[in-house]
Amino acid sequence: MARILITGCNRGIGYELVRQLLEEPSPPKQIFATCRSPTSPQNKKLNDLAAKHPNVVVIKLETTDPQSIKEAVKEVEKHLKGEGLNLLINNAGIMPDSTLESADSDDLLNVYNTNVVGPFLLAKALLPFLKKAAAENQQKHFSCSKSAIINISTLLGSIEKTPESFPFFPMLSYRCSKAALNMLTQCQSVGYKNDGILCTAVHPGWVQTDLGGPNAHLTVEESVKGILKVLDSLTEKHFGILIDWEGNVIPW
Ligand code: NDP
Repeated sequence: MARILITGCNRGIGYELVRQLLEEPSPPKQIFATCRSPTSPQNKKLNDLAAKHPNVVVIKLETTDPQSIKEAVKEVEKHLKGEGLNLLINNAGIMPDSTLESADSDDLLNVYNTNVVGPFLLAKALLPFLKKAAAENQQKHFSCSKSAIINISTLLGSIEKTPESFPFFPMLSYRCSKAALNMLTQCQSVGYKNDGILCTAVHPGWVQTDLGGPNAHLTVEESVKGILKVLDSLTEKHFGILIDWEGNVIPW
């Protein structure tokens, strides 16, 4: 995974992905770590990492704003200096409280915008760079080190699994948005296969972050360790599937 872009890197799973990638025996040549407000105090941890590691480039990106996507991609292009982008991890996401009783159009549209429209627009804007990486590595099989789009999804977006979990985790708008993200992943996997780009959705487990809450089963370190192992193992067998942090396939 030579050149990677990850969204939502100032905290939670995104930050930990950057941190653990830097600890790998052969860290990526470039990590484009995006966040909404690079200069805010909330971004200190990420800025500290970037100060220590010249291969981390912090990029400002509000994924719901097409203009922000345009500017971020321009910045990435400048740093790539003609190289391709091997891996896009669409990690940024939101999960507001939402039930069949409380959900309204603002809730549903806001969550859809962040969890589906943002990942779609960003992948579309970065496509030329992902295609370039795939073309430069034609001899390699499908993998995250060649060219890939990874959408961080969730078990809660699985339609088949909904009867088991809905009573305990209603999160209506989130579930609907992640089911749509799963569909987007399938469409991308079919549409970009001939371009050599692997597209897969990953469920990180239930993780102790601001989004997952303190009762979650996994620490962010455990989840990300698993995710990185899974990313390393992905091949053409993993096209257009939802896979969890331990490598188990989750039904749509
Ligand atoms: P956190 O709430 O800890 O972090 C979310 C990150 O997304 C933050 O960096 C946040 O930035 C960013 N973000 C949110 N909205 C936007 C936006 N519009 N533009 C740019 N960045 C944005 O969540 P997690 O780390 O737990 O979640 C990461 C991903 O993992 C999400 O997609 C989530 O759905 C998924 N996931 C998490 C699970 C869990 O148990 N934690 C379980 C299953 C899936 P800011 O600080 O600026 O708000």
